[in-house]
Amino acid sequence: MNISELTISQLRSAYTAGDITPVEALRALAGEIDARDPGIGAYLSYDLDRALVDAQSADLSQPLGGIPILLKDLISAKGHPLSCASKFLENTYTAPYDATVVRKLREAGAIPFGRANMDEFAMGSTNENSAIKLCRNPHDLERVPGGSSGGSAAAVAANLAIASLGSDTGGSIRQPASHCGVVGLKPSYGRVSRYGLAAFASSLDQCGPITKTVADTARLLEVIAGGCDYDSTCISTPVPRYSEEIGKDITGLRIGLPTEYFAEGLDPAIRERIESAMKTMESLGATIIPVSLPHTEYVVAIYYIIATAEASSNLARIDGVRYGRRAEASDLTELYEKSRGEGFGSEVKRRILFGTHVLSSGYYDAYYLRAQKARTLIRQDFESAFSRVDLIAAPVSPTPPVKIGEAEADPLRMYLADIYTISANLTGICALSVPCGTVSVEGKPLPVGLQLLGKPFGEVELLRAAHAYEQARG
Ligand code: GLN
Repeated sequence: MNISELTISQLRSAYTAGDITPVEALRALAGEIDARDPGIGAYLSYDLDRALVDAQSADLSQPLGGIPILLKDLISAKGHPLSCASKFLENTYTAPYDATVVRKLREAGAIPFGRANMDEFAMGSTNENSAIKLCRNPHDLERVPGGSSGGSAAAVAANLAIASLGSDTGGSIRQPASHCGVVGLKPSYGRVSRYGLAAFASSLDQCGPITKTVADTARLLEVIAGGCDYDSTCISTPVPRYSEEIGKDITGLRIGLPTEYFAEGLDPAIRERIESAMKTMESLGATIIPVSLPHTEYVVAIYYIIATAEASSNLARIDGVRYGRRAEASDLTELYEKSRGEGFGSEVKRRILFGTHVLSSGYYDAYYLRAQKARTLIRQDFESAFSRVDLIAAPVSPTPPVKIGEAEADPLRMYLADIYTISANLTGICALSVPCGTVSVEGKPLPVGLQLLGKPFGEVELLRAAHAYEQARG
């Protein structure tokens, strides 16, 4: 039995059957990581000794008893390093407390194990903005795994993790899940606490699972979801038993297909995969209905104004005084400037500059305020679509993963590639990526994800449809 290939459900069964203990599982997993991760780069670090202590006392009767969970390196776990894949925090910052999601994982018996590579401060779509190291796509080592939760997705896809958590501000769970051929869910805004996650854009950020199966995503979500005293945006609506709800059939489900998403710019082979997935959905009893999201052409502009504005404000705290690396300087201004100048990578600097500009007096009304108003139009587009359908289906990314190095020359092209994912963040709805086959690129099969988008707090229907599709595809 190769432990690292197992799903959460399978590893739990192996524990219950007495085939293996959590200590043995962690040792085996660490062996796999040591042997194979140097060729991939999904892990920034792991601490086996600490995890073994947790494993010795693991309560196997708990829902995630003894299950190791990989964390994106912006999620605080007490005593573990947290770098956001930035030189600023690398080797200098240790999390002083558990994020709420980590506390909930521990209460459910899980073992936080490993820090996943990512784009610096979660800004990017290829993981190439990691200031620490490159992460490769396990399906084609010449290509990117997607981002920003690239390490979380690559590790699960390469069987170097049982399951992981990522964060999604504009697609950072779904897009790497799609590129790596695994399942990734961005929960509805307010479904999962963000307390203890390094903030990128606070009105968009959500934390969610990246797993091998929809059932595992359901299982993880029911553990991490729910109200939180330390995150006022987190809503305490009761958490459904997602893992028990997903098995029901989807006869009568109405799935909307946005006409605007199937226009120019979408790779024809990806389009064909989505269309074929819709045939499968129809065979399961769903009805496919065309819907319109008329303001789609504005979402990238809206997102990059709001996300950078919020990021420039959130990252003001990374100033060389309170967190991380501190430069040698003769006065305070020089200390800020040198620390930030040396500590942040170029994409983070670009976003801080852009965000500061759109918030500056004289430009605030023209950019930030306008973007917030336009954001309402996007929400209305979705409200109107959801008055006619239960779920929306879409691509995740317009293209397969690019080659390493290809994106650098053209950041705008990468921003535009977020077109299908960012609306879910702007509107706060839930959305996931589930594998829907492969496309052949230069002779290599590369995974493609089907995106399903659900109403706010509509995770039960979303996961049920994804599960039915996954089972039908086999
Ligand atoms: N690619 C998007 C960006 O760079 C999304 C990032 C994210 O979701 N964290 O902003």
